[in-house]
Amino acid sequence: MEQLCHYIDGSFLPTSDWIDVYEPATGSVYAQVARGTQTEVSRAVAAAEQAFPAWSQRPATERAAILFRIADLLEERLEAFAHAESLDQGKPLWLARTLDIPRSIANLRFFAAAALHVWSETHAAPGLLNYTLRHPLGVVGCISPWNLPLYLFTWKIAPALAFGNTVVAKPSELTPLTATRFAELCQECGLPPGVLNIVHGYGPEAGAAIVEHPSIRAISFTGSTATGEYIARTAGPRFKKLSLELGGKNPTIVFADADLDRAIPEIARAAFLNQGEICLCGSRLLVERTIADDVLLRLREHVRTYRVGDPFDEQTTIGALVSEGHYHKVLGAIEQAQRDGGTIVVGGKAVHPSGRCAKGWFVEPTIITGLEPTCAANQEEIFGPVVTVMPFASDEEAIALANNVRYGLAASVWTQHLSRAHSVAARLAAGIVWVNCWMVRDLRTPFGGTKDSGIGREGGWEAYRFFTEPQNICIKL
Ligand code: NAD
Repeated sequence: MEQLCHYIDGSFLPTSDWIDVYEPATGSVYAQVARGTQTEVSRAVAAAEQAFPAWSQRPATERAAILFRIADLLEERLEAFAHAESLDQGKPLWLARTLDIPRSIANLRFFAAAALHVWSETHAAPGLLNYTLRHPLGVVGCISPWNLPLYLFTWKIAPALAFGNTVVAKPSELTPLTATRFAELCQECGLPPGVLNIVHGYGPEAGAAIVEHPSIRAISFTGSTATGEYIARTAGPRFKKLSLELGGKNPTIVFADADLDRAIPEIARAAFLNQGEICLCGSRLLVERTIADDVLLRLREHVRTYRVGDPFDEQTTIGALVSEGHYHKVLGAIEQAQRDGGTIVVGGKAVHPSGRCAKGWFVEPTIITGLEPTCAANQEEIFGPVVTVMPFASDEEAIALANNVRYGLAASVWTQHLSRAHSVAARLAAGIVWVNCWMVRDLRTPFGGTKDSGIGREGGWEAYRFFTEPQNICIKL
């Protein structure tokens, strides 16, 4: 059985303590991953501290050249990485091939190029000149979740490295495979030892050791709001820079003037892509009352074409949920919604495919109506293939329903009315609003949420600002 080791100071470290890694589609153990603790984190930090002076002082062109090389090699091995991601996470292979791995390559190229184009401010006044330098921070911690494993891992480490930091990273213990393969690429491409270190393991052990380590200057974290709260509480008194990308309960708002032919497939995609395991998924569908029946009918017909099953089957729309625990959590949330008075319009049950995937963790795409806005299914993140539907009568009511959750990550608005699109978008408590589209990502734009969806923004110049420390120098002329 394959054993996935820590990657510290340019080497893969043997260990005696392992965690089983499951293939979600079959429910069986296919590998083991190293279980790191404070000891491995301390070694990784020491290696990163040693590597920092040389890496940060290298010209940006040289740092970028290495990241471009890694991106090129990842592109050459795209199919193998897509296969690994699908095996490890349960998502359809076609999705890993068209979304996860291409986007990981794009992350590397985008931030490698960005490092070549950075600039800083000057503030001149009569007799005075201020200019601002932006220094790399030093050693930074990057902690990522299981839903988009390599996509979010590279989204953090690429800007951190490009702007001259060294990194101690921890992928999710549920999906450690592609990060480990990625370390092999780094070795092959000549990334100096200690510049990127990967410590595997459980969050409260390896993850907490990263958050608590006094030499780590910043934490970039993507994951649940509960873990984000712990990190804020722990890293805050240590004055670490923090970027927290947390949960969401995102509304999809459909007005009666929407182009439904365009909207329906996108609404369904927003609800169910990646088994609904995307923080940006539109898990609350708000529909103007006059078209609610029509939208529901069309959505139901569309979702009935979805196929749940083996992620390696090219015809599969929805793969397996990431873990047995998560599978039971999603099924439990559906049962709770029924107890709260909800009606299951489509789905609602576990799926047991025949053959190799008979013991996998599959759930039908599920649409639920008739729930109060305050019930658990409309308030708490389910993070599975479940969408609730609520009608509204006016713009005001739509906005009130949309904002009536503790989260504030993303929203999508479907209307052909130009001024309504602008006015509703601006009043939504969400860091990201899409109009007549969903999850269209331009890496230059600020990415992140408000309220319990986190603090800080990533992407574009926001990442540059996060991963550097500004220093103003004032000269009297
Ligand atoms: P999680 O918080 O359980 O784990 C995320 C990472 O944090 C993992 O690597 C985990 O090992 C680590 N971790 C757990 N406890 C820790 C601790 N005490 N100290 C340090 N690290 C710790 O989240 P998850 O279940 O892996 O991911 C799903 C969640 O992530 C959902 O809530 C989803 O909305 C959120 N998410 C948010 C975004 C975003 O950009 N806002 C993107 C993807 C996922």
